[in-house]
Amino acid sequence: MSPRPLIGIDLGTTNSLVAVFEDGAPRLLLNPHGEELTPSVVGIVDSGEVVVGACARSLALTRPERTVAAFKRWMGEDRSVELGGREFSPPELSSLVLRALREDAEAALGVTIEQAVITVPAYFNQHQREATRRAAQLAGLEVQRIVNEPTAAALTYGFHERQVDQKLLVLDLGGGTFDVTVMEIFEGTLEILSTAGESHLGGEDFTTSLVSHGLSKMGRQLELAELKEPLLVARLREEAEKAKHDIGASEEGTMRLPDTEGCVEDDSERVTVSASEFEEIVAPLVERLRGPTLRALRDADLSPERIGEVLLIGGATRMPVVRRMASELFGRPPRDSVDPDHAVALGAAVQAALVADDRAVDDLVMTDVCPHTLGVEVVKEFGSRQAQGYFLPVLHRNTTVPVSREEIVNTIHDGQTEVIVKVYQGEARKVEENLFLGELAVTDIPRGPAGQEVCLRFTYDLNGLLEVEAFVPATEKKFRTVLRHNAKSLSDAEVAASLRRMQQLKFYPREDLENQRLLAFSSAALKELDRFRRQDLEQKVDMYETSLHLNERGVFDHARQELLRALSALGLPYQEGSDAD
Ligand code: ADP
Ligand code: MG
Repeated sequence: MSPRPLIGIDLGTTNSLVAVFEDGAPRLLLNPHGEELTPSVVGIVDSGEVVVGACARSLALTRPERTVAAFKRWMGEDRSVELGGREFSPPELSSLVLRALREDAEAALGVTIEQAVITVPAYFNQHQREATRRAAQLAGLEVQRIVNEPTAAALTYGFHERQVDQKLLVLDLGGGTFDVTVMEIFEGTLEILSTAGESHLGGEDFTTSLVSHGLSKMGRQLELAELKEPLLVARLREEAEKAKHDIGASEEGTMRLPDTEGCVEDDSERVTVSASEFEEIVAPLVERLRGPTLRALRDADLSPERIGEVLLIGGATRMPVVRRMASELFGRPPRDSVDPDHAVALGAAVQAALVADDRAVDDLVMTDVCPHTLGVEVVKEFGSRQAQGYFLPVLHRNTTVPVSREEIVNTIHDGQTEVIVKVYQGEARKVEENLFLGELAVTDIPRGPAGQEVCLRFTYDLNGLLEVEAFVPATEKKFRTVLRHNAKSLSDAEVAASLRRMQQLKFYPREDLENQRLLAFSSAALKELDRFRRQDLEQKVDMYETSLHLNERGVFDHARQELLRALSALGLPYQEGSDAD
């Protein structure tokens, strides 16, 4: 056995999980509430401590300004988010989730954890991958490998079913991202054939559609309401989320429409949405799932009938509309044996075992592809006219990695001694529509007529790092850069400063998190009640809050029991040590 624990982390938009590979198999580790899924929500409580997970999610109902969620959508973007009076970058927020998972794993395994395999949506670009790596660094984790989420899910499948020989398609619809991956399993070798997706499409968009529907019944419009009545929108979102689950389970769901303060009461107005109405409301979103699915099939050169199994991953694939789309497209129901919530984290742990050469996986081999085309900007000549801004692909999307490929470019002016190689990622013909990754200056080209050769070599490794080399045959000079940093990359000093700021942030003590969660739950529950029923509960909540600071076990136990009893008497039972939903 490896002396180091082999940790795999699924850092999701909505939920994150951590798994370990131990004694020949992957298993999930639990958070302080005894749960496998930790909501990817970060909050800062009044005392300035950070809370992550269920606690932060409950806090979001009463204090939306003190919490932030779904920040994975902003990874790779140059923006900052205000939280509890401080500014955070998206990688800093993600690092807090990673730090919480790291601490959970350390508590479960009783050892220090410094390394992990982390998953990202297959469709993440270089900037988004780099931001993920930065988040790990800020959480004190060295990334052993960045793995694509559907690939990780397929590894879980492949780990258990090594003998099968067939082509698989993984549809991964999470909270905020959509990925499709086509792969082949043959005698324990898992070969990724193609991948496609959208990094801004997920289950949250389905919830948002319901929120919009509810708001329109109230004569409101989403963008405006978000600005003017954030409490109303936050509460309606909760209602819509529940309704979305109910529509899947029982053919219809009901949202209570909150008031401007975000309160709902027994006599609040309601909107009921049937399964068929829901289908109509979300039809444009379902349609958007079809495009990438067909593109992945085309890139793998396969028709839908050639796919042996369809695996559905990600919580949002539980929606019947999504399952139906998949069944119709492939002419058969999707496979049920893989848990849509767990497969990615378990696969990340299997990947960690592969990296560590664990004997339990020595007959398992996996190859992956690069998800986007990588290339350079070139000038095109049309007769005597030169036009700039064209994209010359060097590595085409869905090439198996690791890979290295050469392409020759030429100088365009007589006497030109320098070429700035500008590297882009994307599928568009013109570079302005693609993503700029960085540049490499090639100098000291001997003066001469236009058309001097410069050989470019692109090397893409298993982690998705791109190395660009240039070689000038006339001088035998070589130039090289590794494009692993964001175009607006941080300096070492900035990274160090960010690391210090993150280390200074105190986490709410693990052992008291459950208490904080009950407090947040009951504060949110208060909002459900009318004036009369509210009074009694409010008193119990106040007592409980006070008892948290008293350090007297007897008083605390009593206050907690009283509060739990009051909640259950009001028909709002709190589930200890499990999800409050
Ligand atoms: P991520 O990988 O992005 O963290 P998850 O795989 O945890 O996301 O999926 C979260 C999404 O799945 C959310 O949008 C959630 O509403 C949705 N979801 C989870 N369970 C269900 C369900 N039973 N019905 C409909 N949507 C669901
Ligand atoms: Mg996921």
